[in-house]
Amino acid sequence: MKIVKNLVPSNKYNIKCPYFMTPTRIVIHNTANDASAQNEIAYMIRNDDQTSFHYAVDDQEAVQGIPEDRNAWHASDGLSGKGNREGIAIEICYSKSGGEKFKKAEENAVQLTASILKRYGWGIDRVTKHQDYGNHKYCPHRTLEEGWDSFLNRVSIALGSSNSSDGVPSTDVLKNDQVLQWQKVMNQVYRCNLALDGSFGPDSKAKANQYQLHYTVPTMKNEYVRFVQQRLKNLGYSLSIDGSFGPDMYKKVKQFQKDRSLKVDGWVGKDTVYELLKDSSIVSSSGNVLKNDRVLEWQKVMNQVYRCNLALDGSFGPDSKAKANQYQLHYTVPTIKSEYVRFVQQRLKNLGYSLSIDGSFGPDMDKKVKQFQKDRSLKVDGWIGKDTVEQLLK
Ligand SMILES: [Zn+2]
Repeated sequence: MKIVKNLVPSNKYNIKCPYFMTPTRIVIHNTANDASAQNEIAYMIRNDDQTSFHYAVDDQEAVQGIPEDRNAWHASDGLSGKGNREGIAIEICYSKSGGEKFKKAEENAVQLTASILKRYGWGIDRVTKHQDYGNHKYCPHRTLEEGWDSFLNRVSIALGSSNSSDGVPSTDVLKNDQVLQWQKVMNQVYRCNLALDGSFGPDSKAKANQYQLHYTVPTMKNEYVRFVQQRLKNLGYSLSIDGSFGPDMYKKVKQFQKDRSLKVDGWVGKDTVYELLKDSSIVSSSGNVLKNDRVLEWQKVMNQVYRCNLALDGSFGPDSKAKANQYQLHYTVPTIKSEYVRFVQQRLKNLGYSLSIDGSFGPDMDKKVKQFQKDRSLKVDGWIGKDTVEQLLK
């Protein structure tokens, strides 16, 4: 089946797909009309409603309208729902009248769904329906009438049950006490709100990737803190520029937040970053997006320290804001901050790698992590993301 792109122009991102997204699932819909996929996407792009979706599929082809790394508004679960914020939406066309055209469209949706699962290395457990979210709308209506299980079965077959490295069926989700321990550490250190179910499922994997651990030279690691310190100093707050988020900086950040009428919590997230980057003479030409050289400096630091891949456009737009919130700075007592590193060290040690359990990601741990990745035939990059975490928790 053909997949063609007709992507929404970026000047409509603020309406249709304002947020950067790391997808964790697929959300299936029926259009409840009789338009073709081309027309469905063209209409979605043309109108100024928020409603949006990544793909429309008909009896001929799939048409993509939203990039998979941006969110869309389709699951009726609001601003922060997992459907809207983590789901790749697929609309199956011709569901109003049904018949042969719908059957073919649905079969193409089966193929598209399977190909997306393969691409991400996902199992059938990642296939969800609109009805699973928000107000539980009866959608995909015709697919539901004709049997949701049948749809899932056909996706499983298309996925190829023999090729288990491509599709991991839900029964293969890693589940044990190690995972539970890991979830507790993640909730404690990163305020993840993971369900403590001991299952290394989609949510856990997404968090493992969001908060990847990696060895970085301390001075590099501190460049973002240093940047924030410099900004505070330039704005009249006296503090030392030492790149380390200690109790004095914590006090100054809270003072700054109070002075700017922000929430006084000491977290350097998007609102605080915005205030730090603002000129005294703020000019907002395109919408309300802050744009100046300071933002550009900040983007460079974020790319350097966190490998963000932010476009260096000097605009504090949706991507920049998402990264500001993903990598929030905060003063934490070192022992807490290090609990996740300590947890990983303990796992490595239990698995036979000799290293000291000091909660600090130094060059020796970097070497051991890479050795572990090599031993498990993982990508040897020293990054502790979902694949490495999964092997550690086995
Ligand atoms: Zn729907």
